[in-house]
Amino acid sequence: MIPVNNSKTMKKSNLLIIFFLSLFFVIGCSNEKAEIKARHVIFIGLDGWGSYSVEKADMPHVKNLMNNGSYTLHKRAVLPSSSAVNWATMFMGSVPELHGYTTWGAKEPELPAKELTHYGMYPSMWGLVRDAYPEMEIGYIYEWDGMKYLAESKAMSWEENAAGNEQTVNSAVKYIKNSKPEFLGIIFDEPDHIGHSAGHDTPEYYEKMKVLDAYIGDIIQAVTEAGMFEETIFIVTSDHGGLEKGHGGKTMEEMETPFIISGKGIKKNHIIQQSMMQFDVGSTIISLFNIEQPQVWTGRPMNEIFE
Ligand SMILES: [Zn+2]
Repeated sequence: MIPVNNSKTMKKSNLLIIFFLSLFFVIGCSNEKAEIKARHVIFIGLDGWGSYSVEKADMPHVKNLMNNGSYTLHKRAVLPSSSAVNWATMFMGSVPELHGYTTWGAKEPELPAKELTHYGMYPSMWGLVRDAYPEMEIGYIYEWDGMKYLAESKAMSWEENAAGNEQTVNSAVKYIKNSKPEFLGIIFDEPDHIGHSAGHDTPEYYEKMKVLDAYIGDIIQAVTEAGMFEETIFIVTSDHGGLEKGHGGKTMEEMETPFIISGKGIKKNHIIQQSMMQFDVGSTIISLFNIEQPQVWTGRPMNEIFE
């Protein structure tokens, strides 16, 4: 008799435990889903795209994202207005004095990073998203090999150093359709090259912008065909602009780049009023994933973009 009673009590208490565990699990899951802004975030970088060119540029896909999203043409670069220092500043949500990448082609911090994570790098948005979501599909496709030193390779599910614009977009389209990434960076190394060869604000520069816009159209189409569109936030931005055949200096043509964000839960037809700096990009992106930023970061999320 006693063992039977005991086993009945055990069964009741087991059932109660299972009930409460399931309750916590359901509450936990629904909270997590409610707090992530969208299931997919696609970050598109165009190296060397100055805000000065936006009005004149024939970029229907990008302008559609602007009209259906939030944007500023006054996101300011950090000095010098060069590539690695500014991509690092975006990804690492901090001023160069903290992450330590201070020059055009920096492959490691020239100044010791203020903090290191378990990746052995200053914390970037890539590693932070990976640590918060170990199962997430995260991809990073870029043309310029200098990009590989600015993000935590070990955080990536897929990383590719593509040869040229076309391979970059083709790889991105294929990857989106096959793997439906939750976080994907696609960094084109144009219009930077055309800016250095033909010059900024030239017919050749605008011709290249038209081609890049078509590639962005291909990426949006791939997202649509993958059935992800309603659950995606697109970001299009750049590291610096340029003047004549160069950049790195202190003119606003070099310093100001667009930041465009469009998609699920993002205000439409909205010009960002808050002051936005290069280091605010990382903060804004991790806020989409509901990740608290490290204390060492200096970026600020652009909270006004949310509906
Ligand atoms: Zn650049």
